[in-house]
Amino acid sequence: MSKFLSEKLSSLKAYEPGEQPQDKKYIKLNTNESPYPTSDGVIKAINEQKIKDLRLYSDPECKLLKSKLAEVYDTIPNKIFVGNGSDEILNFAFMAYGQKGVAFADITYGFYSVFADLYGLDSQIIPLKEDFSLDVDGFLGLNKLIVIANPNAPTGKEIPLDDVERILKSNANSVVVIDEAYVDFGGNSCAKLTEKYDNLLCVQTFSKSRSMAGARLGFAIGNSEIIKDLEKIKYSTNPYNINSLTQIAGYSALVDNDYYLNNAKNIIKTREITTNKLRELGFTVLDSKANFIFAKSDKIDGKELYLKLKENGVLVRHFTKDRISKFVRITIGSEEEMQIFIEKVTKILGELE
Ligand code: PMP
Repeated sequence: MSKFLSEKLSSLKAYEPGEQPQDKKYIKLNTNESPYPTSDGVIKAINEQKIKDLRLYSDPECKLLKSKLAEVYDTIPNKIFVGNGSDEILNFAFMAYGQKGVAFADITYGFYSVFADLYGLDSQIIPLKEDFSLDVDGFLGLNKLIVIANPNAPTGKEIPLDDVERILKSNANSVVVIDEAYVDFGGNSCAKLTEKYDNLLCVQTFSKSRSMAGARLGFAIGNSEIIKDLEKIKYSTNPYNINSLTQIAGYSALVDNDYYLNNAKNIIKTREITTNKLRELGFTVLDSKANFIFAKSDKIDGKELYLKLKENGVLVRHFTKDRISKFVRITIGSEEEMQIFIEKVTKILGELE
């Protein structure tokens, strides 16, 4: 750190993304990417001409992309914001709406606490219940910014839309962000509730179900006044936040929506098979509605399992937080990848005996 950094930032603990190793080829089950490639439509759309056109700035209004999103999500472009990954949208929401403080769960997406610290917000941490389900009552009547991942990460647990509505109603004077990064893997989206509640921001991403983590594209649906706020921040920081290739790729991915829906179905199927196999091996596996599972074994600590799997060419994610340090989070890869994963786990457990 240089001596020039402002005091406010010098104590900030930055978010630690999952490993993206470039040294050797792993079966990569650590950052919840899709095992399936982008659709043919996306590949065809990014042609030589579009690459040459990179000399031009991208459309700051993202008109085509927004109109296609509006069509697919049965809404209007004025109710949609697009961001450079959903991380950027979350960043803007913390910046815009946290002045009275922010509430989120103890075990959830690690970036929330980083954004809260970045903007010097008062954080109210609401512990998940013993079984890792969200303490919905704890979020009632707070009237501060509320941020909930649904399904949650890294647990994969979902709260029903009735509970989302209870939270929205009882916090009518503050914004409630529902982070739906993993909703396409069997969850229920709150997007339609934005017609009824002007304090809801529903945030989604192309990084998971739409196989575009590297393109950096997220979107949010909310009341048009909230969207205007986010646009204001965007035009005050980076008007061309979505590069032109990503806009084209996002549009084409929406044209090919059925392909991605089918991939999500396959991932759900593989998730259930993997869950059952791990349970047969004695693991506790939380019921997941996401493209990952959260699992622990009494025979081996989370950190050790993570390290042994890495030695065996399989990357999963381990978190050091006390409450979850026995667990590993395993992204659901292709059927073949998960078969190898199970073989490696079986081997590692066998070597312990
Ligand atoms: N929300 C949650 C819960 C996540 O796990 C992630 C992925 N790390 C994100 C948001 C951000 O995803 P992206 O910026 O790639 O859209």
